[in-house]
Amino acid sequence: MSSTNGGTVNGGISFWYAQEGIPAPREPLPGDASADICIVGGGYTGLWTAYYLKKAVPFLNITVLEAAFCGYGASGRNGGWLYNGIAGRDRYARLHGHEAAVRLQQAMNSTVSEVTDVCAAEGIDADIHRGGVLEVAYTPAQLERLKTFHSVEIAFGEKDRLLLGARETAERVRVTGAVASSWTPHGARLHPVKLVKGLAAAVEALGVTIHESTPVTEIRPKHAVTPYGTVRAPYVLRCTEGFTANLKGQKRTWLPMNSSMIVTEPLPRTVWDAIGWDGRETLGDMAHAYMYAQRTADDRIALGGRGVPYRFGSRTDNDGRTQPTTVDALRDILVRFFPTTAGVRIDHAWSGVLGVPRDWCATATLDRSTGLGWAGGYVGSGVATANLAARTLRDLIQQDSGQSGPTDLTALPWVNHKVRKWEPEPLRWLGVHTLYAAYRNADHRESTTHTATTHPLARTADRLSGRR
Ligand SMILES: Cc1cc2nc3c(=O)[nH]c(=O)nc-3n(C[C@H](O)[C@H](O)[C@H](O)COP(=O)(O)OP(=O)(O)OC[C@H]3O[C@@H](n4cnc5c(N)ncnc54)[C@H](O)[C@@H]3O)c2cc1C
Repeated sequence: MSSTNGGTVNGGISFWYAQEGIPAPREPLPGDASADICIVGGGYTGLWTAYYLKKAVPFLNITVLEAAFCGYGASGRNGGWLYNGIAGRDRYARLHGHEAAVRLQQAMNSTVSEVTDVCAAEGIDADIHRGGVLEVAYTPAQLERLKTFHSVEIAFGEKDRLLLGARETAERVRVTGAVASSWTPHGARLHPVKLVKGLAAAVEALGVTIHESTPVTEIRPKHAVTPYGTVRAPYVLRCTEGFTANLKGQKRTWLPMNSSMIVTEPLPRTVWDAIGWDGRETLGDMAHAYMYAQRTADDRIALGGRGVPYRFGSRTDNDGRTQPTTVDALRDILVRFFPTTAGVRIDHAWSGVLGVPRDWCATATLDRSTGLGWAGGYVGSGVATANLAARTLRDLIQQDSGQSGPTDLTALPWVNHKVRKWEPEPLRWLGVHTLYAAYRNADHRESTTHTATTHPLARTADRLSGRR
C-alpha cells in the first residue's frame, strides 16, 4: 500500500524496493513438513543463520518460513549503515566485565569485514562502500556527549577512531553548524534490498528451502505452526525482530519501535559541491532523537529518524507508510543540515519496525532444553549485528548437537541474555510516547539554550526507560 503526495511516494514497503522491484513470490508451505532446523523470519537474521548453518553442515535440512517475502521487514527498509554498533554493550560491560564487552565490540568490528567479504565471495553487489561512520555535534550539549562517546569507544578498543574539529568535519561533510565529529573506519554504506535479495538467492542456491507468504502463528518446542501446516524440527529459531509481538505468547517480549526514512531525488553536482561527502561515510548526529543518513550509490540522500515511535498495542505494519508530519520533520532535518537541499524533491518516504527489549540489549540465545532459539532486540543497529547473531546461533546449535565445543562466539556476553517483559498497555504506549516527547523537548532546549550539558529531561528519560 502506498500513496503519493507532491511527488513523494509514501509506503510501498520502501524506496529500496521501489528501485529494485518486489521479488517474485516463493511458494508458501504446502502442508505439514519436517526439517532439521526451522527458521521463522526471512530478514538478515534468519537468512544469515540459514547461510552459516548450511555452509557449516551442507546436509542439514533447513526451512525458512517467512510471513510476507524475504526482506519485507527492517532488512528491506533500513538506512544501510553496516556498522559496528551493538545495542547493550555498556550494560554487558557492567554485567560481565569490561573485557567481555571489549570482545563483543571486537566481534562487531570484524563483522563489518565479514559481511563485506561474504558479499564479495557470493557475488552479492549491495553497493557496499567502506567510508566509515561520521557522527557530528552541532550544539554545545551534543559536543559534550560526542567527546564522552568518543572516549568511551576508544576505551572499548577502537584505537583507530578520530575526533575531528569543525574544519576537519567540513572537509568530509559540510553539515551546517557542526562543531565537531567522531569518525570510525568500522562502517560501510550499503543498499539494504540488494543485500537481502542477494542473500536469499545465495541461501536458496545452497539448498535451503524458503516458504514465503507463510505466517507462523505460534512457536512451540520442536514446532512452528502456520495456517497451512506445522513444521516439526529439533531446532526452531525465532528471527522476527520488530514483528515478534504478533506471535502467540510474545506480545510483550520486544517492543516494535518505528523508524522512518525519506530519500531525495538524485542531487546535481552543484548541491554536492556545497555538501562535500565524497567519502560517502554514513552520517549521524548526537541528538537524543538522532538522525541517520547515507549518500546512495546514485547520489541521493537517504535520511531517517524516529517519527511516531510506537503504535498502541504493539501494532506493527502498514506496508511502510509513514505519517505526513514525520516526512515534514525529516525534511526539516535535511534542510537544516544541508540548506542547498531546500528545493529538492523527496522521492519516497517509508517506515519500518525494529525490536526493542526492555533493557535495550540485543541477544543471541539458544535454550538447550527446548531447542528454541532467537536473536534480535538490536534496537536500531541490526544490519551488522544480525550477521554476528547468525554465526553465534550456528555455533550454539553445533555445540548443542555435539558437533563442536564452545567457541569465541558462544562465550560473548550477549549470548543467552534474559530480560523481563515490557509493561502491559496502556503503560507501554504512554511510556514510549513520554520518552520520545522528553527526548525531542531536550533536543529543542539544548539547541535553543546552548548549555553544554545534556538536558535533565533526557537523563531522566534514559534512566526511566531502562536505556542506561
Ligand atoms: C527504517 C529503519 C532504518 C534502520 N536503519 C538501520 C541502519 O542503518 N543500520 C542498522 O544497523 N540497523 C538499522 N535498522 C535496524 C535493522 O534494519 C534491523 O535491526 C535488521 O534489519 C533486523 O533484521 P531481522 O532479520 O532480525 O528482522 P526483519 O528484517 O524485521 O525480519 C523479520 C522478518 O520476519 C518476518 N516475520 C515476522 N513475523 C513472522 C511470523 N510470525 N512468521 C513468519 N515470518 C515472520 C517478517 O515478515 C520479516 O521479513 C533500521 C531499521 C528500520 C526500520
